[in-house]
Amino acid sequence: MSSHARPALAVIGGSGFYDFFDNEATNVEVETPYGAPSAPIAVGEVEGRPVAFLPRHGKSHEFAPHTLPYQANMWALRSLGVRRVFAPCAVGSLRGDWGPGTVAVPDQLVDRTSGRPQTYFDGGGVHVSFADPYCDDLRTATIKSANDALPMKGAGTMVVVQGPRFSTRAESRWFAGQGWDLVNMTGHPEAVLARELEMCYAAVALVTDLDAGLEEGAGVHAVDVFAEFKRNLAPFKELIRRSVAAVTETDTCDRCRVHTGVSLPFDLP
Ligand SMILES: [Zn+2]
Repeated sequence: MSSHARPALAVIGGSGFYDFFDNEATNVEVETPYGAPSAPIAVGEVEGRPVAFLPRHGKSHEFAPHTLPYQANMWALRSLGVRRVFAPCAVGSLRGDWGPGTVAVPDQLVDRTSGRPQTYFDGGGVHVSFADPYCDDLRTATIKSANDALPMKGAGTMVVVQGPRFSTRAESRWFAGQGWDLVNMTGHPEAVLARELEMCYAAVALVTDLDAGLEEGAGVHAVDVFAEFKRNLAPFKELIRRSVAAVTETDTCDRCRVHTGVSLPFDLP
């Protein structure tokens, strides 16, 4: 990794975050027991701190939410020394009062995905605690870093669907009826794999659209979602930068440690 210090902090997000660093980033190729991550990991500096960045969907958005190499991605970050991960993502809103441009820092997650490998432990009685899926230290750092450009919601429940299709109106109304606030396609198994590797993790969700159940028109369309994300990308990136600069650069917090007493099924540096 040449002259770069080991990054304790990371951001896993859209490819629009490539110009996130204060300096020229170094791309690090990482191979894992689970194959290659979505892309080489860029390591650069933010406010004097070494930070790793992984474009979740690949350099040219070549991975769909259901084909992402989630296990390789989280392993690769951890293998570089990362212990705390901010995970910006695009979401649909299940609430009429959280319109496009709202940022939410969810505190709960509901998994509606299927068929995605979601653990590193395929043998033995290993069951990690996941009651609180997101790290409070990271959530607090983002909430405190709110800027005027994007309204901030400091809690919420994010339901993660399999995709790549958007929800039907009935599904969307059902989700909203459960009291869930946001819908997304990549937040799981990312969060639980981070927990298994004892990395603090927090999703930071940018609302790009009202989900189908709330939307009166023709339903949700990808072209509108991408356009809306792009519209708010600059202030959203600034929020993530400020969050990275604000959070304590430390080892995993006590609440995000797994304490399984069981060794991982591979060696980590
Ligand atoms: Zn934590």
